[in-house]
Amino acid sequence: MSLLTIRGLTIRYEGEAVVDGVDLAVERGASVGLVGESGSGKSQCALAVLGLLPARATLSGSIEFDGRELIGAGQEVLDDVRARRIGIVFQDPMLALNPYLRIGAQLKQILRSHGLADRREADARVIEMLARVGLPDPERQFAAWPHELSGGMRQRAMIASALIAQPDLLIADEPTTALDVTVQAQVLDLLERVREDTALLLITHDLGVVAGHCERMTVLEKGRVVDSGSTTSLFRSPGHRHTRDLIAAAPRVDRGEPPAPVTTGTVLSVGNAAVEFGDLRAVDDVSFAVGTGETVAIVGESGSGKSSLARAVLGLLPLATGRVVYAGDALASVVEKRALAVRRDLQLVFQDPISALDPQMRVQRIVAEPLVVHEPRLDEKRRRERVIAVLEQVGLGERFLRRYPHQLSGGEAQRVCIARALVLEPKVLICDEAVAALDGSVRRQVLGLLREVQRETGLSIIFISHDLAVVRSISHRALVMYSGRLVELAQSGALFEAPRHPYTQALIAAVPVPDPVLAPRPAPLPGEAPSLVSPPPGCAFHPRCPLAEAVCRAKAPALRTVGGTQVACHLAE
Ligand code: SF4
Repeated sequence: MSLLTIRGLTIRYEGEAVVDGVDLAVERGASVGLVGESGSGKSQCALAVLGLLPARATLSGSIEFDGRELIGAGQEVLDDVRARRIGIVFQDPMLALNPYLRIGAQLKQILRSHGLADRREADARVIEMLARVGLPDPERQFAAWPHELSGGMRQRAMIASALIAQPDLLIADEPTTALDVTVQAQVLDLLERVREDTALLLITHDLGVVAGHCERMTVLEKGRVVDSGSTTSLFRSPGHRHTRDLIAAAPRVDRGEPPAPVTTGTVLSVGNAAVEFGDLRAVDDVSFAVGTGETVAIVGESGSGKSSLARAVLGLLPLATGRVVYAGDALASVVEKRALAVRRDLQLVFQDPISALDPQMRVQRIVAEPLVVHEPRLDEKRRRERVIAVLEQVGLGERFLRRYPHQLSGGEAQRVCIARALVLEPKVLICDEAVAALDGSVRRQVLGLLREVQRETGLSIIFISHDLAVVRSISHRALVMYSGRLVELAQSGALFEAPRHPYTQALIAAVPVPDPVLAPRPAPLPGEAPSLVSPPPGCAFHPRCPLAEAVCRAKAPALRTVGGTQVACHLAE
């Protein structure tokens, strides 16, 4: 008998089914992936199991846990099953952790409320659990407030709170989506280790995560199961078109030809740039150039300084030292002092398209706005023609003119943002995590669109991303940042095939590969990125570097050229 058996689960809102006849089973000790794009209904299924759906949802079918029916069950059954025997891990740990209680107190409360430990035992049990999920110095974290922990540590604390009552099943809903790739690898490794005692239902849009961590998978599309079976066989021969599309759309860091190198002249260069926030040096002595029609990716984890660097290029953050040179002229450090023509030539696309669009404005006005500022003499008719032309360029067209942002899907909204940036025919487009919030197939379309615009217009792109698989597919060259410094800069082909810096190697190795038959991934990189206020002496990467030697602790490595790659590592050879 399965531990969890879902049969014919249907969830409706105002009569409309968002989950339609879903069947799913999780055996004891098994790991099952529930996969789908946003809106496919996967999180709704998890909420139904946990009894956390809003009151206006109506559900039918059956959810059986360890032989007991949960739909329509009495409070006593629900309290026992849902609070004690099923643990939950969300994407955002702040949803699960109480900000007003220290970590230790929260975990003790769970033990005590289920009568699982007396007062004296509880402290020891909690500290043991904090150690088990890999929190460094567990006694100290026991007394810490949630806001004092880093994102990765909070995620571990939440996993500890989900596991402390020794549940039979752990439901993890996009548990690593908000984490950096090296921390994601640590958390997935942790989930793998706790599986000895606990079955896992892993809900995710990331096929790489499923391929590496689930024996079975179920694929949802628009609330219905379209495929279900062993992960290996579904990857080998997907039964349904949607599964095939998902697998095809999953970007891969381990294969694919990056675009061929570009040999045009430089359009924009950054020299010895530094950005400071008080004592904190967010960007330290970074130099690079972008050619006409070239895409240069800036890669790094949170706190690496990649977004600060991009903002400094745009003049949205002042440079402490260094310069930005565009079309041969050194630019003023702040955008207000830059000539209007320069401002129009450098445009930005953000990560979150919906919040970047004014909800009160129709698409026509949103896209036309930059023209009103930069080309005030343009008459109404010409302006409208330009807007329609650029909407067509991004694959939307005239019928979108009168829509409001809330009438757009995520992918359409991001196309509108790109249209607004392109309507001025810029020379350089800076994309800051511009595809990070998009589903696989939409992401592929938007990347294709950027490539096409580049081919047609010679647009140069600075592509900031934490997603190395995406970077591999779009960038001609890539620069890797760690702790505010440039640690490697190379042609993308060389960077992905033969990375020279140990951090680049670890970053690439940490990306989950959507292929279940590939060899197991290497052990995750230990630790987290260092504090920018007091970075470690010598090479900032040395506390995490598997190759570190005495010289690494004593002396910061300078950037030098080794085999055509710029790299900052004493042992790059
Ligand atoms: Fe590792 Fe040393 Fe190279 Fe830094 S300089 S990356 S510590 S080998």
